[in-house]
Amino acid sequence: MKAKEKKIYTFGPVPSRRLGRSLGIDFVPFKACTYDCIYCQLGRTTTKTMDRQEYFPVGDVLREIEEKLKRVSRPDYITLSGSGEPTLHSRISDIISGIKEFSDIPVAVLTNGSLLWIGEVRDAVSGADLIIPSLDAGSEETFLRVNRPHSGIRFKEMVEGLRSLREEFVGPVWLEVFITGGVTDTEDEISKIKNLVDYIAPERIQLNTTVRTPAEEFAGLVNREKMEEISAFFGRNCEVIADYTKVHSLGEFSSTREDVLELVKLRPCSIDDISAGLGLHRNETVKYVQELVDKKLISMERRHGKRLYSGH
Ligand code: SF4
Repeated sequence: MKAKEKKIYTFGPVPSRRLGRSLGIDFVPFKACTYDCIYCQLGRTTTKTMDRQEYFPVGDVLREIEEKLKRVSRPDYITLSGSGEPTLHSRISDIISGIKEFSDIPVAVLTNGSLLWIGEVRDAVSGADLIIPSLDAGSEETFLRVNRPHSGIRFKEMVEGLRSLREEFVGPVWLEVFITGGVTDTEDEISKIKNLVDYIAPERIQLNTTVRTPAEEFAGLVNREKMEEISAFFGRNCEVIADYTKVHSLGEFSSTREDVLELVKLRPCSIDDISAGLGLHRNETVKYVQELVDKKLISMERRHGKRLYSGH
């Protein structure tokens, strides 16, 4: 699949609980992913694929990052993430090394980890400063329910990939574990996940849950108290990163949030309408909209299967 649409490759800097001010980089088409997670805040996966290719030209991506860095104050991290799985871009290693030619800002890769069992993919991300892969299930059965992976991905292989990454990568690996209420928040599942986490042995374990609107309504939120209990069970290097506070006060972030609010007060808008109207990347729009929904300043309704947001 070659992407034809005009793409905005950078978003933010946006406030991130674990990465400070993070400049997000997106270089795969919306939503090309190896998974279709039930909790995904970007909605259902439209292109489930394992096909690695140069979806967008590396030169264009790097040019936009370099330009953006001249216009914004220095972010704490440049984060390769985006509207799908970043390791699907066959030249992600050139993107990392290209960034390092014009910037000394640490580069983080946020990946679902599904392709790390492939040595070539581990090599491709080896130039990053920090890798944050995911593990959301303790067994094949739950993996299929939560992540709804591409049929070419085997649970055991995926876990081995995470373990190999930890052994080979010279920088830190922070493992994100997403606990889905009503699915993986049982004692049995948590203890299976912990066994795998102990085997992978990441520097840090970061627990998240459904604080953002999920792709499927049945993907539930786990309350803060229970998450803290799970964190204590996982051990000293575990923390809860789920953002229950929901509202960020960063000045540059608040002013754009106001723009979003003004726009949806004029007429009901979808995420794509807002992105197009304000020239924002989709992921950035999702963050603003979610905060406004959480503050009850806007509301969401479904019309013809589409989510529309309106201001009060
Ligand atoms: S949460 Fe991440 S890995 Fe899961 S479907 Fe969404 S983009 Fe893909």
